[in-house]
Amino acid sequence: MSSSRPPPAEPAQVSDPRRRVDEGVSRSQRSRAALRGESRLLQLVLSSMAEGVIVVDQNGRFPIWNPAAERIVGIGPLEIPFGTWPEVYGFYLPDQATHCPVDRLPLVRAMRGESVDQAEFFVCHAARPEGIWLSVSASPLRDDAGAPQGGVVVLRDITRYKRAAEALIQSEERIRGIIELAQDAFIEINAESIVTIWNSRAEAIFGWTRQEAIGRKLSETILPSRYKTAHEAGLQHLLRTGEGTFLNRRIELTARHRDGHELPVEISIGSPTSQKGFVTFHAFVRDISDEKRAGEALEQQQRELERSNRELEQFAYAASHDLQEPLRAVSGYCQLLRRRYHGQLDPRAEEYIDEAVSGASRMQALIEGLLVYSRVGRHGNPLVATDAEAAFDRAVENLQAAIAEGNAVVTHGPLPTVTADATQLTQLFQNLIGNAIKYRGERPPRVHVAVERREFEWLFSVRDNGIGIAAQYQERIFAIFQRLHTRSEYPGTGIGLAICQRIVERHGGRIWVESEPGRGSTFFFSLPVAAGGS
Ligand code: ADP
Repeated sequence: MSSSRPPPAEPAQVSDPRRRVDEGVSRSQRSRAALRGESRLLQLVLSSMAEGVIVVDQNGRFPIWNPAAERIVGIGPLEIPFGTWPEVYGFYLPDQATHCPVDRLPLVRAMRGESVDQAEFFVCHAARPEGIWLSVSASPLRDDAGAPQGGVVVLRDITRYKRAAEALIQSEERIRGIIELAQDAFIEINAESIVTIWNSRAEAIFGWTRQEAIGRKLSETILPSRYKTAHEAGLQHLLRTGEGTFLNRRIELTARHRDGHELPVEISIGSPTSQKGFVTFHAFVRDISDEKRAGEALEQQQRELERSNRELEQFAYAASHDLQEPLRAVSGYCQLLRRRYHGQLDPRAEEYIDEAVSGASRMQALIEGLLVYSRVGRHGNPLVATDAEAAFDRAVENLQAAIAEGNAVVTHGPLPTVTADATQLTQLFQNLIGNAIKYRGERPPRVHVAVERREFEWLFSVRDNGIGIAAQYQERIFAIFQRLHTRSEYPGTGIGLAICQRIVERHGGRIWVESEPGRGSTFFFSLPVAAGGS
């Protein structure tokens, strides 16, 4: 230090001894004053520094221990043997558990003539119970002849920076943990399409281990070679313009496994992130092979079902159509028999003929119903804008005889225009209103047709005050030939509601009933609202 150096020698020149003495006295006075000034300045500098400065001499005493050093370490200079320094000053290695060995203390190393550059230590003792992190630099002090005179250390409190770095490491570890737990492959690539992150799911899905995948290009790992050019052009375009139509949405692609086989994947790529000039892209990738297979199997089943339905319809149509002809002959001849031999046969023969006639006409009714049923899908008209009120009016007109005979009152609320096959809509109203009149109780039938607009559909209801239906039959009645009564109680074939269901389903709607025995029934059916429908 300059204060300890001898003042520079003056050139020899003057000869008067008294003058020499006077000059000598005033020079030493001046140099003492200069020294005091320099020492004050040094004190000022040391006490205003944010860094802690500690100077140690060869005897382990501390000629300098500035206020910042005391503030940071929490302890001032103590006259204790340096073998006890690590414990007394609570000096630990960065593992925060091992006391720093004495010979590794920066001050001791400086005394040995070594330098230390920004070594990190942890300090923890009674005055610093939470512990602090120090960055310590140390240099040896030597006299002009180069002999060791002790050392100086500079301390910086880096606790805040260390804690922030620890928090960052922890959060990175957490994120890494989450990425590892993800059910999807997580892949990060850089601007050159080189893989930088590859999680365990990516290993499982694509067969490349993390070590193998990281550092390779996507085109060397999972990108089928036919997409390489498009992928690289897309990446360059995105880097140039910031535009990428494939960002932030799910896209289905084909990827390649390490063994060469290809698999369908769903991939969502996030917007690129840029850190310190390095751009990275992240993607979650899901293997959708199973879903694809299941979807294809479902489609296959659907096609199969449609085919067998078509065949069944064709069969029902052909059978009922072709059966009509011979049946008409049977029924005709039976009636002829009855007319021609009326009164000539014994009563039992006449009874048999009557049974045959009614059996034949019943069979005719069944076959006709079957024919209508099989025609719903095959011979339907296109679904067009149809006035539901006009369809309702036609149904009521067709039911005039039943209405009059049953003394029924049929009313309706405002009915909309819907997208439908008008003939089938009439048939639907006719079957439901017809049943509402037929299955009446003691009271004269009251039937009301209404509609309610829902978000995506029209919900029609046909309410009656008839006999009602017990809960356990409310699904079964829509199956073909299912009836709840004998013919002597209520005539019918058990086909009417099956036809209703087919019509509604053909229109993309649903049909069901809500009812309680003795309290009437309400049949509901929905028709989808066409886009822009009124
Ligand atoms: P059908 O009327 O020819 O028997 P449907 O298929 O039209 O055939 O009806 C099936 C069964 O559902 C009927 O036998 C009857 O028991 C019951 N049903 C239908 N509509 C009503 C109604 N409005 N009230 C009570 N029961 C009904």
